[in-house]
Amino acid sequence: MKMSQMFMPTLREVPAEAVVASHRLMMRSGMLRKLGNGLFTYLPLGLRSFRKVENIIRSEMDAAGALEFKPSVVVPGEIWRESGRWETMGEGMLRVKNRVDQELVISPTAEEAFTALLRSEISSYKQLPINVYQINTKYRDEIRPRYGVMRGREFTMKDAYSFHTDDESLDETYRAMGRAYRRVFHRCGLSVIPVKADSGAMGGTGSEEFMVESEVGDNNLILCAKCGYAANDEKAACAPDPVAGSAATDKAYAPIATPRVRTIEELTGFLKTVPQAFIKTLIYRAVNSELDLTAAPGCEKLERMAPASSPAYYPSSFFAVCVRGDLDVNEVKLAATLKASEVELASDRDVERITGAPVGFAGPVGLSSVPVIADLSVMAMHDAVTGALKEDLHFEHVEPGRDFTPWQVADVRTVKAGDKCPNCGDAFYAKKGNELGHIFKLGYKYTKSMNMLYLDENGKQQYPTMGCYGIGVDRTLASIIEEHNDEDGIIWPMSVAPFHVAVVPIKYEGAMKDAADRLYAELGAAGIEVLLDDRNERPGVKFKDMDLIGIPVRIVVGDKNLPNVEVKSRKEKDSALVALGEAASRVADTVRRELAALADVPETAGRP
Ligand code: ATP
Ligand code: MG
Repeated sequence: MKMSQMFMPTLREVPAEAVVASHRLMMRSGMLRKLGNGLFTYLPLGLRSFRKVENIIRSEMDAAGALEFKPSVVVPGEIWRESGRWETMGEGMLRVKNRVDQELVISPTAEEAFTALLRSEISSYKQLPINVYQINTKYRDEIRPRYGVMRGREFTMKDAYSFHTDDESLDETYRAMGRAYRRVFHRCGLSVIPVKADSGAMGGTGSEEFMVESEVGDNNLILCAKCGYAANDEKAACAPDPVAGSAATDKAYAPIATPRVRTIEELTGFLKTVPQAFIKTLIYRAVNSELDLTAAPGCEKLERMAPASSPAYYPSSFFAVCVRGDLDVNEVKLAATLKASEVELASDRDVERITGAPVGFAGPVGLSSVPVIADLSVMAMHDAVTGALKEDLHFEHVEPGRDFTPWQVADVRTVKAGDKCPNCGDAFYAKKGNELGHIFKLGYKYTKSMNMLYLDENGKQQYPTMGCYGIGVDRTLASIIEEHNDEDGIIWPMSVAPFHVAVVPIKYEGAMKDAADRLYAELGAAGIEVLLDDRNERPGVKFKDMDLIGIPVRIVVGDKNLPNVEVKSRKEKDSALVALGEAASRVADTVRRELAALADVPETAGRP
């Protein structure tokens, strides 16, 4: 491609809203333009790299035995009602109506679409397992699109769905997809950290996310340097850590006046104690829990109490959760424990109705209106302080297990750096991460709710079990730039560079033009993608642009050097003089070597 025929509007100025390197560089290098909030246009240069990422993903999916489909992006609302997600997806899902008032959805994901398609195609165990995928447009009405295409509203996702007759078959495909993901990211030049992830409310049995380290990442990764344990903090567990020096008491629990003392800080000051001695109790509401919380012993009073403020269509139930005073409740772990689509702190009014006291005096002792879930940390406490369900009153000398029996004991705390690894006991460290991909064992959620059945070997009807596997193409592309750039611009890994080689004549005329044209033709004939800067610009401008757009190899043709040309790698400072006659074959070899190195994925790639 000749620069004069390319549309590649580079910018010297950085748009103010572009605060991360990838967003800045995609705008400056003329890869991308914004059309609206969270809506972007890839310009030709950007699209070339985008397609390369897409094709790496496609080739690994094909190699793993997945079959590519091309479903519509707009799908009937009806199938979302069948799965139950019409209600639970909330406002992130864009719904529209057509001229005959039919409800339609702009796909945010496609479990429903593929289940609906395959239930009418699959009738026998002989057709299973099957693994299908698409690389297609998604729309999510993100509240706060940011960092360019890292979190857009419209984006492209590779999403695959597999269907199986048994767990072993699902396991096999799940592992194959994990291997394919590690290969994809390695081939893109990315360093990923696979972590254990939340498998959601719907009883999935396994889930792994592929993260890249990022200062602006939305995920907190909990990592163990010693044994390699790696988990999203939405999932991370830790070894029990009883508070040193706390001992059981024989004293009965007793009220203690705490006038106007509500927060843990006020309380520890007032009682001259530490937060670790306090049982923190929070009142929550579970949305769409699969468990019947009103059936928990001792909860007759509230029945299905309607929340004071919430959309009427959400079936919800209240509960209390207790955690040691110095720890935080993790709402994702809590929702998973309750098999709920989400949990939400109760409003002050609801807290008052449930505890019979103003906010700040909740406690598990004598609380009979809602079930109590106690974090593991609470059950290791002794001689504790809690709210006493009365204004200006707390209890002291509380012994968990003796003075209250939780409905459930579960691991619902947020694990942080410094907590101990459940496998080896070493202290965790933490990093911020951005999720590029997610693999997930779904089980029967969609096949049962949408009634997808096949006949097994004995002619009996069965539901298949299911897995799903996603990668964000745009986010992967942006993350490559995040990992590969310097103050001058992008430094593309060869596999995803928009062009492999840039040929830059100091002036596109006379002998320099002839030499540049010759290199362009020879490299092109060798199957190398070349960008020839045939513009009538100053050399400094041309060099700056090439550095900015990050082409891996640059050949400069200057009359002072001819019959030699200057070959320089974008990654390195120094250049080498090479005879014009040899330059094309030498550079073609370099390109092929770098491509081969990225494609040669070691078995251990992406493993901690
Ligand atoms: P996040 O937590 O970042 O919102 P998610 O867990 O909702 O992502 P999944 O449903 O697992 O995302 O989708 C699979 C992949 O799609 C993600 O790993 C990510 O790479 C990509 N993705 C999701 N949302 C966006 C978005 N708004 N913009 C760009 N890519 C996205
Ligand atoms: Mg995810």
